Amino acid sequence: MNFNALINQERLARTFIQLCETDSPSGQEGRMAKLVTDILCGLGAAPPFEDTSAEETGSDCGNLIFRFAGDPQQEPLFLNCHLDTVEPGQGIKVVRQGDRFTSSGETILGSDDKAGIAALLEAWQVIQENKLSHVPLEFLFTTSEEIGLLGAKALDPAHVQAKMGYALDSSGFGRVIVNAPAYNQLHIKVKGVAAHAGLQPEQGINAIVLAAKALAAAPCGRIDHETTVNFGLIQGGVASNIVPEQVLIEGEIRSHSLEKLERLTQEIEAVFQGVIAAWHDPSGEVQGVPELDFQATLGFPAMKLSTDDAVIQRILAAGKRIGLELRCEDAGGGSDANIFNGKGLATAIVATGMTNVHSTAEEVSLADMTKLTELVLALISG
Ligand SMILES: [Zn+2]
Repeated sequence: MNFNALINQERLARTFIQLCETDSPSGQEGRMAKLVTDILCGLGAAPPFEDTSAEETGSDCGNLIFRFAGDPQQEPLFLNCHLDTVEPGQGIKVVRQGDRFTSSGETILGSDDKAGIAALLEAWQVIQENKLSHVPLEFLFTTSEEIGLLGAKALDPAHVQAKMGYALDSSGFGRVIVNAPAYNQLHIKVKGVAAHAGLQPEQGINAIVLAAKALAAAPCGRIDHETTVNFGLIQGGVASNIVPEQVLIEGEIRSHSLEKLERLTQEIEAVFQGVIAAWHDPSGEVQGVPELDFQATLGFPAMKLSTDDAVIQRILAAGKRIGLELRCEDAGGGSDANIFNGKGLATAIVATGMTNVHSTAEEVSLADMTKLTELVLALISG
C-alpha cells in the first residue's frame, strides 16, 4: 500500500506546530495531555485510561493510554512518546522554512518528543479516514521523561495490554536503538573534622584532601567499549581558614553490562573506603575519625535487544514495506524504553528525525516526520 499518498503533510505540519506551541515542561504536561486527548477523541477514540502516577511523579497529570481494539488475530502493539519537554521550552514559536522546522532561537523546538506524537496522530487520522484494518493498538503517553523517566518508572505494566512496542524518541532518522546502558547514580559524602586551620590544624581531618586522594585513585572516563564513569560535581569546605569537614561528590557509572556496572560500583566504593581506612591521626589530637557515606542508586536498567527478537524483526519488516532500510544501533543514554524493557515490555527505540535536541538549535524536517508516519502506518496496519 502507498501510505505516503494517504498522509496529509500539511495537516501533519499543522498538528506538529500546535503540539510544539503548547507548553509542556516536565511536571506540567496536563495541557499537552488534554490537547492529545481532544485530537484523538475528536477522531472517535475512546477517552484514555489515565493512571495514578501523578501522585508519585508530582506531575499535573498521569500517564495516558489510548486503546484501539483492532484485529484480534494480530499481535498487539504499543507506541510510546513522552509528553514533556526540557527548558528553555515555554512560549515556543515554531519557525517553518520550507520543509524545516526550528524554534525562533530563544527556546527549544520541542520535536523531542512531539515529532513522534505528531506522527502517531497523523497515522491514526489516516487509519480512520481510509478505514484501514489495524493491529490491537495502544498509544502510551508518559510524563516527566526528561527529569528521570519518572512517568515510565511509575507505570504499572499491567495497564499495557501489548507485550511489545516502540518508543518514538531518538534523534537522527532510519535508526532503531536496540541496546542502551544501565546507569548508576553515585552520591558520595566524605566527612572529616572541622578545625581552625591556623590555630589547631592538628585537631582537624581535611575532607577535601581525603576526597582528592580517593578521586585520584578511582577509575574514571571510558573504562571499556561499553562502560563509562564520571565524577561531575564536587562541593565542600566553608573557608580557607577552616579545615573542611565535608565533601559531597556526585558521579555516575554507565554500562551495557549490569555485571560490570555492579562490579565498578563496588570498586569505586572500595577505593573510598580504602582511603578512609588508611587515615591515621599523626598528632593524637583529633576528636573523631573520618567517615564515608556512599550511595549508589540505579537510575535505569540496561536495555538489550537482539535483531532476532520479534520486536526488531517486526519493525525491520515494516521498514521494508515502505522502502526504508533501518539500521540497528546502540545508544549511550537512557529513556523510557529502558524502564519498559526492565518491566517486561519489549521496547525498541525509533529515531524520529529530530536533531540538535535539548538545544535552541533543535530542528526537524517535514520529510522525516512524513516518513516516520509511513513507518507507523506500516507497523500498525494489519
Ligand atoms: Zn525524548
